[in-house]
Amino acid sequence: MREIRRVNTKMSDAAPTVEGSEIALDADWNAAYIDGEWRRLEGRERIDVTNPSTGEVITQVPAASRDDVDEAFAAAKEAQVEWENTPLEERASVVRTVAKLLEEYEDEVREILAAEGGSAKSKQDIEWGGSVSFGYDAAQYAYRADGRHAQSQIPGKENIVERKPVGVVGVISPWNVPLKLSFRAVAPAIATGNSVVLKPAEDTSISGGLLLARLFEEAGLPDGVLNVVPGEGATAGDQAASHPDCDVMAFTGSTRAGRIVGKNVVDHFGFPALELGGNNPHVVLEDADLDAAVEAGTFGSFWNQGQVCISINRHIVHESVYDEYAERLAERAAELKVGNPVDDDDVVVGPIINESQRDQMMEYVEETVEAGGEVLTGGEADGLFVEPTVITNVTNDMAAACNEHFGPIVPVIPFSDDEEAVEIANDTEYGLAGSVHSGDLGRARDVSDQIDVGMMHVNDQPVNVEPHMPFGGMKESGIGRYNGEYIIDEFTEVKWTSVQREDRGYPF
Ligand code: NAD
Repeated sequence: MREIRRVNTKMSDAAPTVEGSEIALDADWNAAYIDGEWRRLEGRERIDVTNPSTGEVITQVPAASRDDVDEAFAAAKEAQVEWENTPLEERASVVRTVAKLLEEYEDEVREILAAEGGSAKSKQDIEWGGSVSFGYDAAQYAYRADGRHAQSQIPGKENIVERKPVGVVGVISPWNVPLKLSFRAVAPAIATGNSVVLKPAEDTSISGGLLLARLFEEAGLPDGVLNVVPGEGATAGDQAASHPDCDVMAFTGSTRAGRIVGKNVVDHFGFPALELGGNNPHVVLEDADLDAAVEAGTFGSFWNQGQVCISINRHIVHESVYDEYAERLAERAAELKVGNPVDDDDVVVGPIINESQRDQMMEYVEETVEAGGEVLTGGEADGLFVEPTVITNVTNDMAAACNEHFGPIVPVIPFSDDEEAVEIANDTEYGLAGSVHSGDLGRARDVSDQIDVGMMHVNDQPVNVEPHMPFGGMKESGIGRYNGEYIIDEFTEVKWTSVQREDRGYPF
């Protein structure tokens, strides 16, 4: 479990003491990045950044105080005015350069993702590769934040709709896909002329935050446009969401924290863009191609050890193919190599990020077994390595099914007809993503249409992200959508200006 260390050195607020240029796992990351300076933040508590595979402490980072967050917002607010008025191509070019730098530093970035986040190669491929392609796409958002011109009901009037950057975007991100989930907010915000205060998750302060600060710094972003404050959710995060200058809070994390963050943002009339938890169903109808459903189910459950908001949380399988599906999935699960992904590209299932996450998911497994679930494979943990686990005889109210387990765990739930499958799939407070398999695409679409989620995938699994497709959830999975024009909408404000070109006849 992450440890906060108290150091009793004298408080010296803002001395910039770190030469922040190196991009490498063993670089000096022990600082916050505020107003273009790497500030050591002496006197603040320190957060250990740990390799979850080995328990080794990679480095420490400061836990920014509320005052530090205030300084970051002051810098962001001041820098934003000039940034908004910077020519489009300059804004686009900075974001594009970050995408290029990510390519240039591929080895270093992969090493950081593996060591800090426990990311296997298949996870690095998608997180690093997805960040590169997203960066190139997001650079163009600078050009795409346009408005429109419209006729009027009033004779002689011209209507103009403009899009303006909102101002300062706060970003709070989680540890599970830290680089991508921070970058998917930071890059569009900067391209569209906003400035940013980013608070990464405690477990992944480098890949979720400080790394991006170094890349944007190297790309030539003006001081103050991106500020990164590592720190605790309850203090630095709380202050960011509550800050009156936080015009949009782009929060990705749990529904529990999202509820608090949302209230804090709305309290000062900021806009809450909330990407929260999921309990995603993978529905297998009786006419499905079982090979395809099992392969999809394996990837969708075990990619990044199941620590993904859009991973499969429940497999909902027709009773006529239930046993075969579960056995085949258990065979595939048992084959997956579990271990330390650093320097071993064959590892598929790396470590769980920390002890509390592991304990929570093992508790769900235990409670499910106590309630009558049967473990077909797995069920044990060795340190932070949790065996890929398949549990049958599960009902939707059992702990591993009704909670977001966030682990390499497959609860398999039977159903008897399409109506029941839809009912089970929807019987959750979440509505993020899902998938359905059938040999009949029309029938699959009928089922998919009735499942209340923001993202649905036919004859696939739910772990899908594309830079131009809307990403987000219904119900308690959040508010708003990322990517493409959807995020441009959230990070810009619409202004209607009308121009009366002829005398207007008023009634009095
Ligand atoms: P978390 O909610 O514990 O933490 C997420 C971030 O919020 C961290 O940076 C944390 O420091 C901060 N935070 C915590 N409490 C806060 C508070 N009171 N005020 C402000 N900030 C606070 O979540 P986690 O464990 O890091 O991530 C896992 C969760 O994130 C899962 O529920 C997962 O489904 C969700 N998630 C959602 C998406 C999505 O796009 N919908 C993507 C990834 C993860």
